[in-house]
Amino acid sequence: MLKEAVSGIAKKYGHSYFVKKAKSGQKPKELWRELGENGFTGVNLPVEYGGGGMGITELAIAAKEVASVGCPLLMLVASPTICDTIIARFGTTQQKEKWLPRMASGEMMMSFAITEPDAGSNSHNISTKATKDGDIFRLNGSKYFISGVDEAEAILVVANTGVDENTGRGQLSLFIVDSDSKGLEKHLLPV
Ligand SMILES: Cc1cc2nc3c(=O)[nH]c(=O)nc-3n(C[C@H](O)[C@H](O)[C@H](O)COP(=O)(O)OP(=O)(O)OC[C@H]3O[C@@H](n4cnc5c(N)ncnc54)[C@H](O)[C@@H]3O)c2cc1C
Repeated sequence: MLKEAVSGIAKKYGHSYFVKKAKSGQKPKELWRELGENGFTGVNLPVEYGGGGMGITELAIAAKEVASVGCPLLMLVASPTICDTIIARFGTTQQKEKWLPRMASGEMMMSFAITEPDAGSNSHNISTKATKDGDIFRLNGSKYFISGVDEAEAILVVANTGVDENTGRGQLSLFIVDSDSKGLEKHLLPV
């Protein structure tokens, strides 16, 4: 039923819609929104936050179905799979209430930023630092390969908050950063 419902929506748009959007530098917003309104961008999220109460398997089925009709939505991997799962599991109640319902409904999406030029597979090498300054944290560093950062309303940023005394490795923490935060610059990767 899930496969049929998702592919039914994606087929209305089809590959030509997706290619047209990609070639003109636009985003497949209408498709994303319709999937969200029908519960599929948040199929893995808890019911109390507007989700479908299912899991990653169901989300993978939805992602595969849209791709199989020619509309591969990479942001289904970044936003609901990575960001929403982390927030649903580890976020505060305030963070869950603020972000999850709007992501479940397809109203917004979130990017995930861990990779840096010198820290790909080895995430413990990341040099982006988060330093406490009174009540806030200040983040300093550069990320790259961040999918959908040009359309996401917020970014889940992985930053270094110290060194683990036992392992000597960087201690990594996650921060939800508004995409229009002061001091945040975004650039297209040269192709
Ligand atoms: C299309 C796309 C979208 C992406 N979206 C995001 C995103 O949204 N957010 C984000 O943070 N990042 C994103 N990334 C980055 C991605 O997570 C990194 O590319 C990935 O972690 C690998 O890092 P790297 O490219 O620096 O390669 P490296 O880590 O430098 O690896 C290069 C090669 O060496 C191999 N290698 C590395 N370490 C070892 C080892 N110990 N033993 C044997 N082989 C090894 C790897 O398998 C690979 O073949 C995206 C990348 C792509 C291509």
